[in-house]
Amino acid sequence: MATHHVEEEDKQNDAQVNALRHSSDSDDEEEEYEDQNWDDWKDEDDAVEEQGLNPQLQCLFCDSPYGSCSSLFEHCSSAHFFDFYGIKKAYNLDFYKCFKLINYVRSQVAVNKCWSCGMICMSKEELQKHLHKAVSFDLSSFPWDDDRYLNPFLQDDSLLYSFGEDDEDEEGDIMIDDTKELASYMSQFEHIDIQVEGASDRCAPELIIPCENGGKGAVLSFDKDLNAAKPLANTNNVAGGLSPYRSRKNEAFTVPSTNIATNEIRKINKSYFSSYSSFGIHRDMISDKVRTDAYRQAISENPSLLRNAVVMDVGCGTGILSLFAAQAGASRVIAVEASDKMAAVATQIVKDNSLLRNGISSDGSQQDGVIEVVQGMVEELDNADHIQPQSMDVLLSEWMGYCLLYESMLTSVLFARDKWLKPGGAILPDTATMFVAGFGRGATSIPFWENVYGFNMSCIGQEVVEDAARVPIVDVIDNCNIVTTTKVLQNFDLVTMQPKQMDFTAEVELEPKLVVPLNNPTGSKLEITWCYGLVLWFETGFTERFCREKPVVLSTSPYDPSTHWSQTILTFREPIAMASNSGGDKLAEVGTNDCPAVKIQSRISIVRASQHRSIDISMELTGIGSDRRKRNWPAQFFNLN
Ligand code: SAH
Repeated sequence: MATHHVEEEDKQNDAQVNALRHSSDSDDEEEEYEDQNWDDWKDEDDAVEEQGLNPQLQCLFCDSPYGSCSSLFEHCSSAHFFDFYGIKKAYNLDFYKCFKLINYVRSQVAVNKCWSCGMICMSKEELQKHLHKAVSFDLSSFPWDDDRYLNPFLQDDSLLYSFGEDDEDEEGDIMIDDTKELASYMSQFEHIDIQVEGASDRCAPELIIPCENGGKGAVLSFDKDLNAAKPLANTNNVAGGLSPYRSRKNEAFTVPSTNIATNEIRKINKSYFSSYSSFGIHRDMISDKVRTDAYRQAISENPSLLRNAVVMDVGCGTGILSLFAAQAGASRVIAVEASDKMAAVATQIVKDNSLLRNGISSDGSQQDGVIEVVQGMVEELDNADHIQPQSMDVLLSEWMGYCLLYESMLTSVLFARDKWLKPGGAILPDTATMFVAGFGRGATSIPFWENVYGFNMSCIGQEVVEDAARVPIVDVIDNCNIVTTTKVLQNFDLVTMQPKQMDFTAEVELEPKLVVPLNNPTGSKLEITWCYGLVLWFETGFTERFCREKPVVLSTSPYDPSTHWSQTILTFREPIAMASNSGGDKLAEVGTNDCPAVKIQSRISIVRASQHRSIDISMELTGIGSDRRKRNWPAQFFNLN
């Protein structure tokens, strides 16, 4: 599984926000409108006075800023016929519903639509003229009662976390419960601990995000020249001072409002799951024969594990792995899928293959299959879905992203392991290993651009290589371009590992791969290999621990047939000369033609980035000369998103 996110929705949101801003940019329009309304003029005056207090509360219908919710809502009522408190009372709106109402109104105003009757106006002025008192709404279906309006329409909309303050005196503890509820709702979107500060804190809840869970501790900003990473929050330097990538242990930092972290995560999750709604991705995954055959073999050829087993498939997509499990004799398969569309598609597929548990076929007959599809994030499943905690015999998932850890779906699998797997139950796959090796010039785009139909376009090659020194390239590397030995970078045991172990630092030592015989028998000249960067890949193991009859390895190595994961390429800012033989000029710099390195030591850190689901990679290099002299290169930082 490997996908890039769809950012379409973000763009739409931006466009809507822009529409709101642009449509209210015209002073003339605003003045003309305001001239007609004495109350509004008066409120504007108040607003200016109040700017010093809290200038950030923006009217729902115009650009007027207010310092308090009460004055803002008073203005909305007198100038725009929107009586927030009246509506809240009349329809008994709780905190959520008010929150949604505000976002709903803003979203309607942005497209010149009346929030109350739904009429679409031709312009903002027309809308302003049209606005009227609220129509009466059907108590069972308010137009704003849709979870998408939990997503703030305006970025940093202060009104959303202060409109409840006015209620405090009136409702006291009720507001606290509501904010707790909101925090707990938001927490569904990521398995991060969200705590509402004590009862005295009556404003919006603060998020306490442990650094180890979700990588939030590794908030870094990179200097433009990439030579230094500035820790923005709570990152400790490793002994030796080189790597900035260390999450703090057992510490937490606070983020000032629910909006920032949870909404970001929610947005990313939404776009992540919607990217899985496209059939193309599922086709690519299924037709990746290396991948699908590895899973099929592990599931079908280990009958002692699968026969009569209760199985959970975390992220079932089309349901392919669940179908394999049913075919292998599982007694019950719970196929969990967060994408609504894919959950519906998987249900249909399971039904069409007569494998639905308690299902009805299209001809009306009862189906007595073993698979049930549950829509939702595995983190949201609860006992209400008739699943007992710690009752699964086998947990099945295809969770791997580019460079293994991109997408961070592994956290969901570990969550499911801890909640749903029986003690001693099996996880397929149960191991993952990352590898690293050095690659040569042939794996870069330099040779391509050097000769394009006889023309020299190497300036492009140069630029591409410079970019590649910041952004990892996901591509297939031909193994003839691997110029060093291969080393294991990190091993993961899915049975025992904790989510925090997804963030790691490891060191490897790479030597030139081929000992090329010297052309010159006197040995005065060294055979030099130029190393242009490091390539990462992974394997996952369905090991003998659970797959006794048929252990399987799913490899994404350049030495094996390629997969849709390709490899991940980290390019050096400058190539390093290597030679396996001793020699070289003792005065020359290590890693150059005159003094090639006999080894490259590299320290690599991979951590979940501050942006949910993306990963940050740092790479430090030391060249060792034949006389043991060392040369360090400035650390390089990559972000995979
Ligand atoms: N198992 C399928 C699909 C693998 S792709 C196959 O092997 O072909 C991963 C799938 O997991 C996607 O469909 C994605 O929407 C889903 N997914 C990712 N994280 C999830 C989570 N936390 N809960 C439920 N589904 C998730």
